[in-house]
Amino acid sequence: MKHFPIFVALEGRRVVLSGGGEAALAKLRLLLKTEASLTVFSSDPAKEIENWANEGRLRLVRRAMEPGDATCAVLFYAADEDDAEDARTSTIARADGAMVNIVDNLGDSEFITPAIVDRDPVTVAIGTEGAAPVLARAIKSDLEARLPANLGPLARIGKAFRKAVEVLPMGRKRRDFWSDFYFNAGPRAMDQGGENAVQDTLPALLDKHERAQEREGHVAFVGAGPGDPELLTLKARKALDAADVVIHDRLVTKDILELARREAILINAGKEGFGPSMSQDDINALIIEHAATGAQVVRLKGGDPTVFGRLDEEIEAVMAADISWHVVPGITAASASVASLGQSLTKRGRNSSVRFVTGHDMKGYADHDWASLARPGEVAAVYMGKKSARFIQGRLLMYGADRSTPVSIIENASRPDQRILATTLSGLVNDLDASDLNGPALTLIGLAPRAAEAALTDIQQEFA
Ligand code: SAH
Repeated sequence: MKHFPIFVALEGRRVVLSGGGEAALAKLRLLLKTEASLTVFSSDPAKEIENWANEGRLRLVRRAMEPGDATCAVLFYAADEDDAEDARTSTIARADGAMVNIVDNLGDSEFITPAIVDRDPVTVAIGTEGAAPVLARAIKSDLEARLPANLGPLARIGKAFRKAVEVLPMGRKRRDFWSDFYFNAGPRAMDQGGENAVQDTLPALLDKHERAQEREGHVAFVGAGPGDPELLTLKARKALDAADVVIHDRLVTKDILELARREAILINAGKEGFGPSMSQDDINALIIEHAATGAQVVRLKGGDPTVFGRLDEEIEAVMAADISWHVVPGITAASASVASLGQSLTKRGRNSSVRFVTGHDMKGYADHDWASLARPGEVAAVYMGKKSARFIQGRLLMYGADRSTPVSIIENASRPDQRILATTLSGLVNDLDASDLNGPALTLIGLAPRAAEAALTDIQQEFA
């Protein structure tokens, strides 16, 4: 972070600006929202600046800046849109002790003005250190659309009511009251009858929350699917909508977390790269800690929570704490992966069963019934199978599997960056080593992408 965001108290303090054109106007429009005492130096000021001076909103000095003109100023804006003049005025201002901003000159500025979303007294400042003004604008317009237009007056009224709300116990009850006020009852009253209606609604709202029963906590173990938000179930969406707390693993994508209720607390309980992961005991404790306060907890797991998700350990912990729970299934990686190949997991005459296996378990590489997996036509979905590819290849070949058995590795199934590596059992390790697959990847043994399968059959027929 090269720039540290702060909010500067400007009430009654001096801010000086040099310039009278477009750049000066843009900055002045922002500065006039503050209660600073503004002085503008310009020998050729725009009409609007003259008007503001006539209205007494700023002091206009019709000449170029001179040493001493920025004495006691906290901030100075060089806005003459002329490099030489900006350099001259900013040198004067620095000597006078002001912090300097040169418009459109990040390198020589001591501070920068962020993009601002103004819901006074709520102010959001967005900065990209000059890297991406387009991005700042996009974030600004996103926030503008998202924050109720009347958040400012609501916040002012709410602030005056804070003391009264202390009758509610600290924590969840108070949070529920405020979230009801800012996102439901407040905006509704404002729409219906303006600020007076908001004032009038507050005592009744407080009364309602005082009498509200303590809610019972609950844990929903929810499948987030393979990554594409459109592959969430409606039940998963509903659970996310109602969540107070979402505890997710690292497979859950940002797009999906975005769907959580705005006020929900998001907690990442997953491993970050090769960094330390939260232990299962810590995760269990975290789930229970939140649910015990009455929170609606969503334990959000990639894919289907019942597939290699350590679900039982969490359910048992939650049951031991006497907390209610339910499971919302999700689309598992194998389903998304096989769909991307255009294949089926089972097929009449080819395989009447399919196995979901893990590449490694708690004891290391996982052992399986290799003899049956090696049979022609068998299909297996290997989860967490990248590191164990050599082991699996070795075991299958040892048990007589055909070297040309198709194998597909699907990375980031269902996501925009999905990649498919189509190979064979004999090529598996080399092809995987040569690839740079580093996202979550599922290995499908016995299946090729449909088009490639067709090509493969042609070749085999030619050589038959
Ligand atoms: N419960 C999850 C699986 C958890 S185990 C599910 O049902 O999908 C984690 C493994 O799942 C990863 O190592 C990878 O093999 C697989 N996986 C999860 N999401 C994936 C995705 N989008 N694409 C490919 N494989 C994925």
